[in-house]
Amino acid sequence: MARIVMKFGGTSMAGTERIRRVARIVQRQQAAGHEVAVVVSAMAGETDRLVNFCREANPLYDPAEYDVVVASGEQVTSGLLAMHLQALGCKARSWLGWQLPIHTDDAHSKARIEGIDAEALLASMASGEIAVIPGFQGVSDKGRITTLGRGGSDTSAVAVAAAVKADRCDIYTDVDGVYTTDPRIVAKARKLKNVTYEEMLELASVGSKVLQTRSVSLAMKEGVRVQVLSSFIDDDAPAADTIPGTMIVSDEELEGLDMERQLITGIAADKNEAKVTLTRIADRPGAVAAIFGPLAAANINVDMIIQNIAKDKGETDVTFTVPISDLARTQALLEERKDTIGYYRMLANSKVAKISVVGVGMRSHAGVAATMFRSLADRGINIQAITTSEIKVSVLIDEDETELAVRVLHTAYEMDGE
Ligand code: ADP
Ligand code: ASP
Ligand code: MG
Repeated sequence: MARIVMKFGGTSMAGTERIRRVARIVQRQQAAGHEVAVVVSAMAGETDRLVNFCREANPLYDPAEYDVVVASGEQVTSGLLAMHLQALGCKARSWLGWQLPIHTDDAHSKARIEGIDAEALLASMASGEIAVIPGFQGVSDKGRITTLGRGGSDTSAVAVAAAVKADRCDIYTDVDGVYTTDPRIVAKARKLKNVTYEEMLELASVGSKVLQTRSVSLAMKEGVRVQVLSSFIDDDAPAADTIPGTMIVSDEELEGLDMERQLITGIAADKNEAKVTLTRIADRPGAVAAIFGPLAAANINVDMIIQNIAKDKGETDVTFTVPISDLARTQALLEERKDTIGYYRMLANSKVAKISVVGVGMRSHAGVAATMFRSLADRGINIQAITTSEIKVSVLIDEDETELAVRVLHTAYEMDGE
């Protein structure tokens, strides 16, 4: 017998028929002799709909009330799944974030989980009851509802799995695993049998939304075994233990499984960044600090940064990227400080995309970046900024060239499947 946390995403929970299918998958898992807890997302599209209501109410909405509104999508699906399970004859009940409780800090709309009281949950599971937990939500120590940031149900599932010391956390979604790149963009994307935590963390953080970044770092820290698999399976499909999804594994485990590791594991695209350029800044100590200090203080995450070579007049241009959702605030902050920073013009462009190639093989192989630059150049794709880490190279390009760039690179690194 194993203890398994099963998480179902928005597409899997979108409507009565789909929830019924989910209930059958859960029932089969329990019937196989396992203790199960289930974490669910809101129905696909629901969270977007709720976010829009908040924006319409007040563009500068109170984040605490935003959380009250957007957390409701998961309340609906957790109650519905419990009902569907009961209809199949299973013992089941929902546990809302404040009931367990799932404790978070009070950073509304992007709260972090601080701990989960698992005692009642464990007792319920041990009695054969299926616990259904709404993802994405928690409660602050002030007793207010919080949410974990978009895609946060993945993190809820991993946190629940860690709290109940589950043998596995199965993330059921609308694709049957983690692919070399988004299979909805590149038909020749290949499914990965295994991917390391580290690679998955990089892939998620550069735009592979199949798992929320924080769910991967939490799984890595807590040693939770995570598997990504499809909920779109037939009633006579094999049990989850034998379904070929993607298993997230440690580096050492992968060494044992796969001697012939690929140089590049995956490619991701992210259209959620905007590029800002400040021209003709004085080339002197402190100039860059004057730009990024205020942005950091405002909690704005700067990603790529380039400072051009100083021109002969002792002036330089600085280009950087921020999340599109923070662009307006960034521009306002820098406009206010125009004289202190001392720039000539501020240019902004949100029609950019960041393309990243990720793979631990890069550590031991030279030339990965060169292949990327050459392949993009051959197709006339201009690179506007570059950043690298030990296992990743990212470039910023025109948004219109996103799909082309991902396809070209997928072929260049010989990743194309059938
Ligand atoms: P859920 O609602 O189940 O949480 P998401 O929409 O958040 O599902 O994540 C699944 C989606 O992630 C897929 O439909 C796919 O388009 C996208 N995706 C992006 N990159 C990848 C990748 N490398 N492998 C698999 N799916 C990916
Ligand atoms: N429903 C939330 C969202 O759409 C959380 C999730 O689905 O993971 O972001
Ligand atoms: Mg998701």
